[in-house]
Amino acid sequence: MSRVAIYPGSFDPLTNGHVSIVERGLEVFDRIIVAVAHNVRKSSGLFTVEERVEFIRKSFPEERVEIDTFTQTLLVDYARSRDCGVILRGLRAVSDFEYELQLANMNRRLAPDIETVFMMTEEAHFYVSSSLIKEVALFGGDVSGMVPPHVAARLHEKYQQRGQS
Ligand code: ADP
Repeated sequence: MSRVAIYPGSFDPLTNGHVSIVERGLEVFDRIIVAVAHNVRKSSGLFTVEERVEFIRKSFPEERVEIDTFTQTLLVDYARSRDCGVILRGLRAVSDFEYELQLANMNRRLAPDIETVFMMTEEAHFYVSSSLIKEVALFGGDVSGMVPPHVAARLHEKYQQRGQS
């Protein structure tokens, strides 16, 4: 039986931290479904869901990575609808731990048959988050090396457009 994991997140935008989790996840799972969420806890986002999907597709053209989107659904319901019993999450610093612990336990309570698997961030990416990347890019900071080159280029474009309007 093939081992499939769902890797959910906002991915607004994709960072090298996310890339590392998918790459390492592919060593453990046969297939990964990267699921882009319209997160109810975060307001609409800088990039559209279509743009976020495109960033991920460009970084992972291989068949073993599927990209999907989901809106306003419980994650466990989404996982069930995809017939998938594993949720993959990345853990950065201590700050992630509390929320992730709550989320994993809540999901276990809602769906005991679905397991959450955590991967620790690589040392090089432990401080990289989509929100910090956006803040740095907004003020003209160099984000290369922290996001894929195509994401860095679009961030640059986006903030230039904003600066001009
Ligand atoms: P969410 O809105 O669910 O937090 P994110 O796109 O911020 O979505 O993150 C998706 C997943 O990737 C989460 O499990 C998050 O902890 C993980 N992640 C984000 N950045 C990194 C990183 N730099 N290293 C490892 N994991 C990360």
